[in-house]
Amino acid sequence: MSFTNLYNKRTAGTPKACWVCLKPTTTVLATINTVDFLYTCDSHLTDRGFATLSSVGESSDGTRKLDIKPEEIAKVKEEWEEKQKQKQKQKADKEKEEEEQKKEKEESDKKDDEKQKDEGTSKSPSPKLSGSLSPLATPSPSATHQRFILHRDIFAMRLAEHRKRRQTTQAKELAPRLPGAPRGDVI
Ligand SMILES: [Zn+2]
Repeated sequence: MSFTNLYNKRTAGTPKACWVCLKPTTTVLATINTVDFLYTCDSHLTDRGFATLSSVGESSDGTRKLDIKPEEIAKVKEEWEEKQKQKQKQKADKEKEEEEQKKEKEESDKKDDEKQKDEGTSKSPSPKLSGSLSPLATPSPSATHQRFILHRDIFAMRLAEHRKRRQTTQAKELAPRLPGAPRGDVI
């Protein structure tokens, strides 16, 4: 079973020997389905020669990082702010217009009121159903986990270790089926 180079940081209940320096540690790095896991001291997690903290928005295979330059972010931000300003301005203009219309309406309403008093009509607002269909809040998956990408060489070692282990298991499974050495039946 293969696994990708993307490890979630977890904390174990009981400390075990660090994979690197054999000091006891409760910090564990585990792949998504815990196909592979290794105990590591926290100090190694800051060592780029061992592992790199994976940024959010990284592709799940963990091999490529989204490369956005700071100046691009600044540009997008600027454009967005400009848009917001325009929106605000348009809103303000609209409000101004509405206010003027309202004033005009009030003037005409006053005249209408005189008429309506005789009729005695009362307008009741129709009840509105609101907020009954609020969307369910969905928690973002594994947002609490810090994710790490192992250094190429370290990951290669992990893969090699798994391959070796798999071969050993296979050899054990196959062993009973292999024809045994001739026993002492033939004298
Ligand atoms: Zn260590």
